[in-house]
Amino acid sequence: MNVRLHNTLTRSTEPFQPLQKGQVLFYVCGPTVYDYIHIGNARVFVIFDSLRRFLERCGFRVIYIQNFTDIDDKIINRAREKGVDPRELAEEYIAEYWEDADRLGVRRATHHPRATENVENIIGLIRVLEEKGFTYQVHGDVLFDVSRFPAYGKLSGKKVDELIEGARVESRYKKRSGADFVLWKSAKPGEPRWESPWGPGRPGWHIECSAMVLRYLGHTIDIHAGGTDLTFPHHENEIVQSEAATDHPFARYWLHNGYLNIGEEKMSKSLGNIVTVREMLKQYHPRVLRLVLFSTHYRKPLHLDDEVLSSAERYFERMKNFLRNLSFIEEKVQQAPLCEGKEQEAQFSENIKKCRERFTEALAEDFNTAQALGVVSEFFRTMNRFLQPERGRWSRDTTAGIREFLEEVEEVLGIVPAEEMSVEDRLVQELVEKRQEARAKKEWETADTLREEIHNLGYVVEDTPLGPRWFRTEVESAGDFSVP
Ligand SMILES: [Zn+2]
Repeated sequence: MNVRLHNTLTRSTEPFQPLQKGQVLFYVCGPTVYDYIHIGNARVFVIFDSLRRFLERCGFRVIYIQNFTDIDDKIINRAREKGVDPRELAEEYIAEYWEDADRLGVRRATHHPRATENVENIIGLIRVLEEKGFTYQVHGDVLFDVSRFPAYGKLSGKKVDELIEGARVESRYKKRSGADFVLWKSAKPGEPRWESPWGPGRPGWHIECSAMVLRYLGHTIDIHAGGTDLTFPHHENEIVQSEAATDHPFARYWLHNGYLNIGEEKMSKSLGNIVTVREMLKQYHPRVLRLVLFSTHYRKPLHLDDEVLSSAERYFERMKNFLRNLSFIEEKVQQAPLCEGKEQEAQFSENIKKCRERFTEALAEDFNTAQALGVVSEFFRTMNRFLQPERGRWSRDTTAGIREFLEEVEEVLGIVPAEEMSVEDRLVQELVEKRQEARAKKEWETADTLREEIHNLGYVVEDTPLGPRWFRTEVESAGDFSVP
């Protein structure tokens, strides 16, 4: 499969070819652990974990690293507000990260290194930069001298001169250039500290990712990914310090996902509209949230609003209906295999094959999950028309083909509903069985009352030559389940 990915570095969509055949070295900037992750963070983790899963499906061996920034100004400040130790706070929110990520179905990376476990490597990397003349010291801090690296700005397209204005605000002292950034921060009283050749202090944010990439993946990696807000300065700084230290290209493909907006507004602390994953999970099924995140191409801004949420919910319900119908048909096939003819069966298999191809093609073209979801939805519609009891155009082999495709969708996107019955499902099933008994005894009135009860729960029961089947009515495509 030829995979193409959009590379921020070249501003174009390119064929993806890893440096070493069959192996992908992949790094994603992980969370700064001072709070619960929000839905914008979740977009990064879900999208790139799924891209990893897709690349694995394509036959690549992927070494996937996602770090924890567990020492940072934000952590220190929040810990101070709460009156706890910064290490304790970081530990707490790493545990909260696992809870959210696990519930969202984000698979574990190959490694999840923490900044505080890599301080020795970070110091080593800063020393290399110092020996090569890329650093200078101000008030005990060690800074990277951007003017020594002419290629600075190649990722974001910014020029060093333009950066002086923007950087002035956060500058706590006179730098040689506004774009210079801190590699090592001297410790203020009461802050966590490590011994270093420049005195006690702690690593700056940017250097930790370079050090972890170098340690876990080597000097040149295939994919470096993160949110678009990290392009500048974080990723730009990662590039200069890594390339200055190793004299090798740092990352070959840079992938950035778009912003997440709440309605039309950008999600931000200042607007007070941060939506945490924890909050969302109280109201929505984790797989519905995954569907939301996949519903827009990863590079585009995603607008989170009621419409996108309810259409994801409907999509999820449609999948459940599809699975109900599929297992109904499968059960009947087990009892008495039926097939209308070889020709129809061949046509049916061809249909499944085409859908699988289109699903893979959508993902291979810059990981277009929105298009892939469209293919899956169309697949359900087509298959439902086919899987009708009156028709009997199926055999065991054909339903197996459907199952294979569903497994593939699940493996890459993790969106297929579990098939165990919910409490509500069991209740409906029970009512359907009672109704059958009533019908067998010709107690028509009771049967009608039961049908009404089922209807009031939001389900419909349909009598077919192979027995009754039932599904949820409040989904757009419920009509697809009626016999054409
Ligand atoms: Zn990073």
